[in-house]
Amino acid sequence: MNEKNANPIDQDRRQFLTASAAMAGVAIAPGVLLYNIAHGKPADQPVSNAVRWGMLIDTNQCREGCDACVKACGEENGFGHGTRETDSQWIRKVELKDMRSGQTKSLPVMCQHCAEPPCVDVCPTGASFKRADGIVLVDRHICIGCRYCMMACPYKARSFVHERITDQNPDVPRGIGCVESCTMCVHRVDRDQQPACVEACAKAGHGAIIFGNLNDPNSEIAKRIAQYATMELRADLKLNLGVRYQGF
Ligand code: SF4
Repeated sequence: MNEKNANPIDQDRRQFLTASAAMAGVAIAPGVLLYNIAHGKPADQPVSNAVRWGMLIDTNQCREGCDACVKACGEENGFGHGTRETDSQWIRKVELKDMRSGQTKSLPVMCQHCAEPPCVDVCPTGASFKRADGIVLVDRHICIGCRYCMMACPYKARSFVHERITDQNPDVPRGIGCVESCTMCVHRVDRDQQPACVEACAKAGHGAIIFGNLNDPNSEIAKRIAQYATMELRADLKLNLGVRYQGF
């Protein structure tokens, strides 16, 4: 569903889920971080489409074998680092190989926070929704666990919670029978922090993930996208993704 079709429930939800400014950290050398403010909105105002949060992943900086982002995501959002097919995976490392050159690339893949999300289109209850600032979420109170959204997602980005959850992060309520996926750490973004994966990658000395406001031409992420060739996964689907990749 797009903005023009937003119903009153969506608007109420957006009022409730507020976002403000966020810090975007960029590694300019190992251990050296350059921080710039991604201007959002005052904390007492609803989310607006003046901001579109996004991530840029530099595949040249992402290290094969490093899974700091995956671990940080699990710790932050209250799930383990399991490898069973039924374990929740909000972010996963993918190894790509160019069959002609033999060159390999290692990169993280998570919810791509589409501007036109297929999960939102197919959700029969309105549980899958997109905030005005581009973050795609699931409302657990409305999700009936039908998993249509999992089938619709071209990126295999959503997981189903099969088990009762204990030891939850109170900021990230999770529940059996619901579908979940990367929230861009919306609870952190709304507190002017970066997503956990971005912070962990910088701490690991790679700085392969930049987070920021795609709508602000002065943000680091927007400048990098303007300066360098970047790509969207399955660009042929024309979903206008919030996550971009550099280095191909
Ligand atoms: S599983 Fe939940 S979020 Fe996904 S389509 Fe069904 S109701 Fe919507």
